[in-house]
Amino acid sequence: MRDVTQTPDEETPYECFDCGAVVVAEDDPSPCPKCGGEMRNRQTPLE
Ligand SMILES: [Zn+2]
Repeated sequence: MRDVTQTPDEETPYECFDCGAVVVAEDDPSPCPKCGGEMRNRQTPLE
């Protein structure tokens, strides 16, 4: 058993909060390669 919050070994799209750039990666690619902002996983539902 591994304590993970997301499916491992699967690339998911991350979107920049600030500029909207999308980076597909297995792990959080923060900071944004374009503006240095914070990235979020697009597949994570936001409350
Ligand atoms: Zn950005």
